Amino acid sequence: MVIITISEKKVTKYCTYCAEEIDAKAEVCPKCGVRQPKQDESK
Ligand SMILES: [Zn+2]
Repeated sequence: MVIITISEKKVTKYCTYCAEEIDAKAEVCPKCGVRQPKQDESK
């Protein structure tokens, strides 16, 4: 019996330039290298 627990939640967003799915915390798209705007949800 194999039990797989995935505890880490992966949050992604889309690059504003090439629309590649990237990490939500990524400041720069790993594909095209375009800097992503910060998502400030502290309001
Ligand atoms: Zn990109």
